[in-house]
Amino acid sequence: MSTLFKNYARRPVHLVKGEGTVVEDADGKQYLDFTSGIAVVSLGHAHPAIVNAIQVQSEKLWHVSNLFESPEQGNLAASLMNDTHFSHAFFCNSGAEANEAAIKLARKHTGKSTIITFDQSFHGRTFGAMAATGQDKIKQGFGPMLETFKTVPFNDLSSLEAVIDDDVAAIMLEVIQGEGGIHAVTPEFATVISDICKSKGILCIVDEVQTGIGRTGTRYAYEQSGLKPDIMTLAKGLGGGFPIGAMLGIAELFDSFGPGTHGTTFGGNPLAVAVAQTVVDHVFDKNFLKDVQEKSEALIQRLKESLPPEQFDIRGKGLLIGIDCKGDVSPYIRQAEEAGLLIVQAGSDVIRLLPPLTVTEEEIDQAVDILTSIVLVPSTI
Ligand code: PLP
Repeated sequence: MSTLFKNYARRPVHLVKGEGTVVEDADGKQYLDFTSGIAVVSLGHAHPAIVNAIQVQSEKLWHVSNLFESPEQGNLAASLMNDTHFSHAFFCNSGAEANEAAIKLARKHTGKSTIITFDQSFHGRTFGAMAATGQDKIKQGFGPMLETFKTVPFNDLSSLEAVIDDDVAAIMLEVIQGEGGIHAVTPEFATVISDICKSKGILCIVDEVQTGIGRTGTRYAYEQSGLKPDIMTLAKGLGGGFPIGAMLGIAELFDSFGPGTHGTTFGGNPLAVAVAQTVVDHVFDKNFLKDVQEKSEALIQRLKESLPPEQFDIRGKGLLIGIDCKGDVSPYIRQAEEAGLLIVQAGSDVIRLLPPLTVTEEEIDQAVDILTSIVLVPSTI
């Protein structure tokens, strides 16, 4: 019997090392990692700059309590907010925690209790983030849920308008729903959200845990959406594999998070901050982001050339790409793995491709060849 709880449906592959996009299992078999640990390993596995950042910092100081000053957190915050409308940051350890902070800040600042979220969204597994999530399967067996959240269909104007009342603190969304199947907010819906938020004094929370830090070809996905969030949450790619989360907020929110209102022991720990600073310095370089956009175009073009549009819908931005196969994709995930390509599902019908942002065009070609050889042949499983 396993010594671990069964809460993960683990695949029978034991990965032991990696470099760039390539990972190797305990038997020496190599795979192209088009999961990046689900949008985490943004600079690829064992990137020399990250290895160096960990080595250097680990010889100085691993952990210091948030009871003490941290100019390093301040510098990372400044890098994340440079040339944006955000002015303050809070660091934590994961995406769910960043969302918990956002939910608490929105309620504290507005004094109101309702947060509107959307069907198929995913915001994490802690109690608040789970209740915010618009997928019943995530909540099953854990009820009753917090009453704070009202969840309505995504990109549906009249459903959103129907739940707006005087008790709404915030509207919370992913610019591109990652776990839910790679569905982007439409420009029209983004405009409606912005207008409602502005006219009613409602806060806009954007969850960029999966889409942030270059994943969609810009620093943040909201930059391409027409939204100007009051609060944004980050995690996954921010640490390049080292656990760290962040919540950024606008100046007006500053006084609502005074001493003692919120915190976490490990949040913004020196090792995590050193790594995240290295990731951000690399990813926010204009040439790096241009390169991500070019690789995204190459990937999308190769997929569109290879997969007939009546059978496959290609969606997404940057290096967060979904292939909607209009049927259960779980057999493809196993077949790809056997053929040396790691991919992940989004919803039930969508293959999600999330290579490291450092993936090469050659690796993209190899991955597309493997994928097409699988999805274009009727499954034998
Ligand atoms: N928000 C989004 C959009 C996510 O994709 C995820 C994780 O997949 C989370 C929140 C939760 O992040 P974590 O698993 O780090 O708690």
